[in-house]
Amino acid sequence: QDKSTDIVVIGAGGAGMTAAIQAVQDGAKNVVLVEKMPITGGNSVRSTGGLNAAPTKYQERDGIKDSIELFVEDTMKGGHNLNDESLVRTLAENSAAAVDWVNDIGGDLSVVGMFGGASVKRIHRPSDTSAVGPMLVTTLNNKVEELGIPVLLNTKAEEILVDANGAVTGVKVTGEEGTYTIKTKAVVLATGGFGANAEMVTKYKPALAGFATTNHKGATGDGIVMAEKIGAGFVDMEQIQTHPTVNPTDQTMYTEGVRGNGAILVNKEGKRFINELETRDVVSEAILKQTEGQAYLLFDQEVRESLKAIESYIKGGIIVEADTIEGLAEQIGVDPANLKETMEKYAGYQASGSDPDFGRASMEFPLTQSKYYAGLCAPAVHHTMGGVKINTEAQVLNTDGNPIPGLFAGGEITGGVHGGNRLGGNAVADIVIFGRIAGSAAHAYVMENG
Ligand code: ADP
Repeated sequence: QDKSTDIVVIGAGGAGMTAAIQAVQDGAKNVVLVEKMPITGGNSVRSTGGLNAAPTKYQERDGIKDSIELFVEDTMKGGHNLNDESLVRTLAENSAAAVDWVNDIGGDLSVVGMFGGASVKRIHRPSDTSAVGPMLVTTLNNKVEELGIPVLLNTKAEEILVDANGAVTGVKVTGEEGTYTIKTKAVVLATGGFGANAEMVTKYKPALAGFATTNHKGATGDGIVMAEKIGAGFVDMEQIQTHPTVNPTDQTMYTEGVRGNGAILVNKEGKRFINELETRDVVSEAILKQTEGQAYLLFDQEVRESLKAIESYIKGGIIVEADTIEGLAEQIGVDPANLKETMEKYAGYQASGSDPDFGRASMEFPLTQSKYYAGLCAPAVHHTMGGVKINTEAQVLNTDGNPIPGLFAGGEITGGVHGGNRLGGNAVADIVIFGRIAGSAAHAYVMENG
């Protein structure tokens, strides 16, 4: 019943499928994807933002001046300089090519937008303003199918097998046919994060006990456990990101694009309290300090029309709407006079292009176009930034800092790229860029050692 191949990719989310495709594009003949859930996509399919890249032809088209250096600088600053700079540099250097790669295999990343922590418009998104995750996962699924890469669904990797020298020799999996071993020359670990494993989350960051999560239920950190058993090193495990704007009732996450496209945040007193485009950790913390630890994401008709994702929130019944600001205030139980004053002030700031209260730089709309909309929000566990230690070749390093022969990793399972705070748009970048590097490196390893 045992099987044999050259490369096993564990996890068919964004990073895993990217790695498998890249390995085959490089010439690999025998690549197998193993996925424990009944479908591919993992957390990647939930991704709403886009892919940070610089400098790209799309930025050039829009007259946006950006550079690898500025991308590195923003990412390091956003991550409180805890990031591994060599990984960040690799991310930035390969980012423009990553946008082209996605588009070349049938994807659509051609609109450039603004996200928190970026000095300029850098996030590349689908042209129809829809969420990036479904577009990316559909594109990857199609390419995996076109290339004939086998995907073993409902198949959970249990253990990575190594020989006496610590080199990878196989993966023990449990699937529909029971438990068996897939013999292999290389493994790409792409099992994602552990945001849905409340026990693991609180083990590494006790302050997050009781927090909701935006993650799919397969994000349980299996790869962390498997890698630990064969001596992998880890970094920044306690660095767990909360997303600031998640609906507390049904855990729907309002994409950062709502703020990027112009929405503001107000507290239950009807007042703004933060630059809405600050990094996720700063905005999360600010919301937790407000009454009941919650806030309202507030926008108008122009913002609604600028972003497709908003339609799904409205359909989902988590957005309150009204013809006037006072009407909205009454519905959400906020003092109408306060809210009116906040909105008038903001419209003035937007007109003058300067926000003396909180220093918000990008204000797309004056928020004066009826109807008006509000969605209740609070922070929830979103992304586990720590993980297995890798080098710029996506080789997994052991606790002594040496590569584990035949073991590669990419995506949320890895640590070091995001440091202490991930910028929106850097997860999809991480998936595609380090997924590709891991796929190429695994194939090169098989060629050298096969
Ligand atoms: P990334 O963004 O890094 O690609 P995702 O969450 O999108 O991460 O994808 C990770 C995938 O790995 C998910 O589809 C998840 O179900 C899968 N996965 C997690 N643990 C295992 C495991 N033990 N065996 C097989 N697949 C796994």
